[in-house]
Amino acid sequence: MGAPHKWHDWKKMERVIGIDLGTTNSCVALIDADGTPQVIPNRGGYKTTPSIVAITESGKRLVGHIAKRQSITNAENTVYTAKRLIGRKWDSAQVRAARKNSGYNIVEGPHGDVRIQVQDQLYSVPEISAMILQEMKFVAAEACPGEELLKAVITVPAYFNDGQRQATKDAGQIAGLDVIRIINEPTAAALAFGYGKDLQKLIAVFDLGGGTFDVSILEIGSGGVFRVVATAGDTFLGGEDFDARIMDWLIDDFRAAQGADLREDRMALQRLKDAAERAKCELSVVTESDINLPFVISVGPSNEPLHLQRTLDRATVEALCSDLVERCIEICRGTLVDARLRADELDEVLLVGGMTRMPMVQRAVAELFGREPSKNVHPDEVVAIGAAIQGHALMSDEENLILLDVTPHALGVLTTGKHFEELIAQNTTVPTSQTKNFTTSRDAQTAVKILVIQREAEELQPLGEFILTGLRSAPKGEIEIEVRFSIDSDGIVSVSAKDLETGIEQSIQVTATSGLTAEEVHQMMENANEYLVDRKHSDESEGVRQHAEKLVAEVEKLFPQVEAVVASSDFGREAIAKARTVLERTRDALDRRDVDAMKETSESLARTLRMFKGVVTRPS
Ligand code: AMP
Repeated sequence: MGAPHKWHDWKKMERVIGIDLGTTNSCVALIDADGTPQVIPNRGGYKTTPSIVAITESGKRLVGHIAKRQSITNAENTVYTAKRLIGRKWDSAQVRAARKNSGYNIVEGPHGDVRIQVQDQLYSVPEISAMILQEMKFVAAEACPGEELLKAVITVPAYFNDGQRQATKDAGQIAGLDVIRIINEPTAAALAFGYGKDLQKLIAVFDLGGGTFDVSILEIGSGGVFRVVATAGDTFLGGEDFDARIMDWLIDDFRAAQGADLREDRMALQRLKDAAERAKCELSVVTESDINLPFVISVGPSNEPLHLQRTLDRATVEALCSDLVERCIEICRGTLVDARLRADELDEVLLVGGMTRMPMVQRAVAELFGREPSKNVHPDEVVAIGAAIQGHALMSDEENLILLDVTPHALGVLTTGKHFEELIAQNTTVPTSQTKNFTTSRDAQTAVKILVIQREAEELQPLGEFILTGLRSAPKGEIEIEVRFSIDSDGIVSVSAKDLETGIEQSIQVTATSGLTAEEVHQMMENANEYLVDRKHSDESEGVRQHAEKLVAEVEKLFPQVEAVVASSDFGREAIAKARTVLERTRDALDRRDVDAMKETSESLARTLRMFKGVVTRPS
């Protein structure tokens, strides 16, 4: 990367550490004296540090390579992939999955959150992440003797929700860092790629790391504007899942051949995990890899030690993992639909994350986008570099850099009848603020409960709630309440509600530590009706709108599949073009809140949906 920017008076300016806090590895970058972003190697000379924390029997804390090296002999007290747990609730599917495969103890915290037991101590996930951040701060500080480095920009997957962002910020604070901004990893990668080059390009960033997958489509415009057009991802899809497939294959094979279950032995599992990952990485370069684990079980069923010896080839790994890659590609297709772009309209595809070294991943990306991915970025380093650039721009009030990121989830409130009323649509540019007016839903209702909901992949997830009290007793529908949602530049959400008659206001900042237990959440959903607000328009128009929105979502979802099936015929292409027009008209009617237009276009769209369903269910 060239020197994009000579900074004025840089010596007087406090430097900001750019930290890529990865699931598997973390990386730190700083802007050097020439104004060039540099990745800082750790003491061992490595540019990335494993995101692993361990506590030894004598209570010593180990982070990074040193923690990794002792992980086999101290599996129970070695915490890896903590990022998968950050900001998650105890009873979430993701935490359940993590518990199944982890060598350390994950236990329930006091607020339905997650705690990790290391030696005899319980740690919250932000505390564990803070230890990694502290290590990265230390790596940076060693490169700059005498300089106090306190400010940081930390990156998170674009698809992280509010709770996960907040928890990451908490981790920074625990580590003694002033986190001046949280930015999305793909945005950081795009920044590292395009900053200072005066490009005008549409790019896709495909980021497959150890634990998460993200894809973003960005527009780099003149004057240093980086605008995210659409983003999507899965915070539970990454290299770990590939490793788990290889592990399962080895375990099944071993059980069949030797009659012993490796899952019952924690140390064997940890060795297997390391071996599976090593084989996977090797198979990115060669087509066969030998896995050798002598004495994997020290005492087998007939009292003798057992050894594992197996050859794994690339074709087998690809067969074991092809559906994981397909999941990434499906998400990319959906993002293109959200961005209203065809794959061939993109100018560049960037690969980020260690897993993108896998040939099957590269092939699938090249096939989808119809072009070879760019070779100009280093998949392990770009994100930290982008974070350092953003940190520098924030400190120097850089006018040549404007980041326009988007919110990855739709946000809104729950209204009577458990309808989700959206206030902020997915992929809205942040920071943003939106208001909508509601009314009471019952006669003489003097309090309303505002239930803040995030819609993540069609699932409604409560983020928090608060009650606005002291309303005048009046017939239902008479009292008007203005609800305002704001998302700041870190992607963190706050919500307020105001009685428009008296001006009385209540607000919350939605945080991960709002501490809802599963039961509370369930209870909230159940009890919500009696307090809920009503959307301020007639039931009929509400029904029409919801029907139209549902049709749009269903048609959009099927679009890529239908396109793939019918695109080869003239008739098919014509049908697709027509469907696209109907979809556009419905979206337009929704945007304009034009109920009559919604009714009309919904009829056409319902026909399109029937046709689409026919195409995708037709036997080939
Ligand atoms: P990251 O979170 O970006 O550091 O990515 C780490 C993930 O990339 C881990 O699952 C690694 O096993 C995986 N990885 C690293 N190098 C390779 C490679 N050469 N081939 C396949 N996977 C790799």
